[in-house]
Amino acid sequence: MSGFDDGVMVGETKMQANVLFKEAQITERVASLAQEIAADYASRGGLHTVTVLNGALHFASQLRFAISKANPELGFEMTSDTIHLASYHGTGSSGEVKKISDLTHPVTGKHVLILEDIVDTGKTLSVLVAELLAQKPASLAVVVLLRKPSKLAVPESDLGEKMYVGFDIGPEFVVGHCFDYDGRFRDVPDIYALSPAE
Ligand code: 5GP
Ligand code: MG
Repeated sequence: MSGFDDGVMVGETKMQANVLFKEAQITERVASLAQEIAADYASRGGLHTVTVLNGALHFASQLRFAISKANPELGFEMTSDTIHLASYHGTGSSGEVKKISDLTHPVTGKHVLILEDIVDTGKTLSVLVAELLAQKPASLAVVVLLRKPSKLAVPESDLGEKMYVGFDIGPEFVVGHCFDYDGRFRDVPDIYALSPAE
């Protein structure tokens, strides 16, 4: 059962929504990413997360609790900040990145992990990575719930030292579980791919 059974209107166009990932599958993948991250950061003595608003909000809180559960000692050393970037208009990337609100604390000397919902062209992330590197963090890695390898338009070396990826997907536009279209569908538990209805 989903509210998408009869398709979904995206502007004037009727789109078909197909489930890509069920909530349980996402939760399981987030837990295993958390295990991997907790193991990698255990010896570094700290983890500072930078969550990219709005999209990554839900994924970020899920992941941070999971990291803390995977390694309670690391959990006590975790700090977090947010930055609000906007770059997307409708279902196509504008390539222009606008900062709506900035970090509260500098990342200098910290082991920074950027928490982002999705890498599409990578332009948003590359701008953020460059900005944070200028502050000289101790290390800088990225975790994304979804990645679209076929759409990547920047060199991988511009996207941090390491990227943890939940799932690789095709070029399709996705909604649900963090992902919105014009502010809608973020609260839908599963992830759907939208395609033009026949
Ligand atoms: P970029 O092209 O710069 O990598 O992606 C910029 C932003 O576009 C992402 O942070 C995300 O907020 C949004 N975005 C990219 N692909 C999708 C998608 O398939 N669905 C939704 N809802 N947002 C997307
Ligand atoms: Mg985003």
